[in-house]
Amino acid sequence: IEQTAYQNDKLAMLGKIAAAIAHEIRNPLTSIRGFIQLLRPHLMQLGKEEYARIILAEIDRANDIIYEFLNSSKPSAPMAQEVRIAALLKEVILLSESEALMRGCQLQFETCDESLCVSIDVKQIKQVILNLVKNAMDAIGELNGERPGLIAIKTQRNEQFVEISIRDNGRGMDRLTMNKLFDPFFTTKEAGTGLGLSVSYRIIRNHGGTIRVDSNLGEGTEFNIYLPLVL
Ligand code: ADP
Repeated sequence: IEQTAYQNDKLAMLGKIAAAIAHEIRNPLTSIRGFIQLLRPHLMQLGKEEYARIILAEIDRANDIIYEFLNSSKPSAPMAQEVRIAALLKEVILLSESEALMRGCQLQFETCDESLCVSIDVKQIKQVILNLVKNAMDAIGELNGERPGLIAIKTQRNEQFVEISIRDNGRGMDRLTMNKLFDPFFTTKEAGTGLGLSVSYRIIRNHGGTIRVDSNLGEGTEFNIYLPLVL
């Protein structure tokens, strides 16, 4: 599924607006956050600590959205660094392991070639993989323990590219969802921003790569990322 020029423009424009106003919004958010923290003991006395928790969570969500916007407006030339993709994936898996355990998901990693190298912006690509792994955990979570959750991450060479596949046995998705997947703001989650995949798509494109998805409702989903190989 290809992201259209329209979607790209929309995302680029949003990024620019966000960059311009983020500063103005972040400061008041920070002071609101601080004052709510100060009010917390008083709310607790009133038996309303739940309010503080909700306000803080919502402030954090607003901050997340600003952060993701800012990321989507990043210049198109990534900071390139030559790394072994297998090592990077292992690092991301290590980072995700405790959350996976908590959410009843098993993470698996497989590679046929440890030495495959890519030239990437490490922070950005890590963000993409984390996004996909998090989405996979969410999709497994929505099965409510129907089956043991499994997330398989695999990397292999595919002609001049490194192919990274992230497969889950979560709830999968229908055609409609698949068609909208990469649209900024498209989300089926209550607390979702709908930015993860559109930003990921943009990052991969800026690296001269592509991202594909295949999914079966009720069975699971597989994302495939292709990044140019350093030979
Ligand atoms: P968010 O996670 O905030 O909803 P994303 O852009 O990351 O935003 O994802 C958009 C939507 O794509 C999700 O709300 C979900 O419906 C769908 N989706 C993404 N990854 C998966 C997956 N692994 N399995 C099922 N659905 C998925």
